[in-house]
Amino acid sequence: MIADEVRAALERHARAEEPNEACGLLLLRGGTAERYVAARNAAASPYRFELAADPDALLAEDEGYELGVFHSHTASPARPSRADVENIGLWEGRAYMILSLRTSELAAFRITGGRALAEPVVTHAGAAS
Ligand SMILES: [Zn+2]
Repeated sequence: MIADEVRAALERHARAEEPNEACGLLLLRGGTAERYVAARNAAASPYRFELAADPDALLAEDEGYELGVFHSHTASPARPSRADVENIGLWEGRAYMILSLRTSELAAFRITGGRALAEPVVTHAGAAS
């Protein structure tokens, strides 16, 4: 699940970074993405991302959040590209969301062992503050 204001923040960030891909960290609790921390795409590319996050944001795990990663696709569907799967790195097995600006679809996955498994995305209003 994803808080509706988080979904809105993803969309705003993705639009602001166009024509490049946007990326950032998702902070999840109990399976719900409660917060979004925008990061810099060090690759500054329309085709790939290289997340440069504020190291402080990674400390959210100590506050009981599960970390996930978000990035946008400017022209392709909301599915992990081959490069996304190959470059999964430390995001292996974690929440992995992609927003397609072409279709406005937001999709969630877990990528493990070179395979991406889709997960449902349910937006819900009135998330925890
Ligand atoms: Zn991608």
